[in-house]
Parts: sequence; C-alpha cells; structure tokens
Amino acid sequence: MKIRHHLTDDLIMGYSSGTLPEAVNLIVATHVSLCDECRAAVESYDAVGGALVEGSDMVEVSDACLSGALDLIRNGAWSATEARMSAGDDVLPAPLADYVGGTLEDVKWRPVGMGVKQAILPTSDTATARLLYIPAGTAIPDHSHSGMELTLVLKGAFEDDDGRFARGDIEVAHEEVHHTPVADISEDCICLAVTDAPLRFKGLLPRLVQPFVKI
Ligand code: ZN
Ligand code: ZN
Repeated sequence: MKIRHHLTDDLIMGYSSGTLPEAVNLIVATHVSLCDECRAAVESYDAVGGALVEGSDMVEVSDACLSGALDLIRNGAWSATEARMSAGDDVLPAPLADYVGGTLEDVKWRPVGMGVKQAILPTSDTATARLLYIPAGTAIPDHSHSGMELTLVLKGAFEDDDGRFARGDIEVAHEEVHHTPVADISEDCICLAVTDAPLRFKGLLPRLVQPFVKI
C-alpha cells in the first residue's frame, strides 16, 4: 500500500503532545496505524518531548508501568487486554474499532440521501468524527468549510481538485477549500471524516437538509 497524502506537521506535533480534540486525535491515530512514514515522524517528536521532561520522574513512571504490566501477566489478564487493543478488521484499523464497538458489521449507519450513509462516533464535541459510506461513482455535494475537515480513506477511493485519495490517504481541507469529492466508480468508498465546524453546502437543498442530517 502506497500512501501519498499525509498528516501535516501541526497534526503530528499536536498528536505527540496530546493536545488535539478527541475526534482529531482519533483520525490522526488511525492514519498513524496505517502509515510508516507518519509513525516515524510521531516517534521522533515523542523522543524530543521525552528529552524535555528528562529526569528521575521518567524512571518512576517506567517502574510503575513495568510493575503494572507484570501484574497483568501474573493475573492472566494480559492476553485479553492485548486482544481487545488489537481488534479491528480489513477496513477499520484498531484505533477505530473501539469507537464502533467491534467491526464494520457493528456500524450503525444512517442514510443522509443519495445512497450516502453516515455514522457519528462518540467523541467529545469540540470536533465531530463520522464514518461516511459513499456508493461507487457518487459525489458529495459541492461544499466549503467554516473550519478544518480531515478525511481519511478506509476503503475504495475518492477524487477531488486536490487529487486522488485511496486507503490510508488523508486529506486536510481548510476554510478556503471548496470541493466536490467523487467516489471511484469501481468500488464503494468508506471514509473517516472529522470536522471542527459544520460544512457549508452551496446548493439550496443540501442547506435545507443540513440541520437534520448534522453533516
Ligand atoms: Zn502518513
Ligand atoms: Zn469537504
């Protein structure tokens, strides 16, 4: 798998320092779980952060973690925890599995028109995370953003003015971006999308529907 669209430095830094809203943190963690390049970048930021808080505190934390892990192994809870952490399937990587409550079959889709379905994930409401199901060849109505929109492809692919996005690719769209993503004709597309403000649709109908579908 060749990922061509990556996280910005701001997102990697925010993730490493733990300052991102929950929904943004989730999409970054999901990309990092699929992308060696961004995982390496996160690790180097983590190393810099670790060096800044160097000292005896770090050793104490390590000791606590180690004894906690040993307790888990002794109690036989380790394998169960491990299994829960690594849950996921071909479409949903591990960081997403918990939010969905299992696998792709457990997603509670709601139709939002034109065959498009969404499932809003339970995160704090500073930003919204949703899974989007876009039938092959379908376009999401032309819209712009009043804030940031991050879109990570989990299955299939879509294309817009910024290029083509396939599994693992993440699109970082800001306020000035105005686009109409279209799913590939060959396969249905499943994405994880995160917005920190409502989208603004250009057409009248989507604007009327917007308050109801909460897209
Ligand atoms: Zn990446
Ligand atoms: Zn958009």
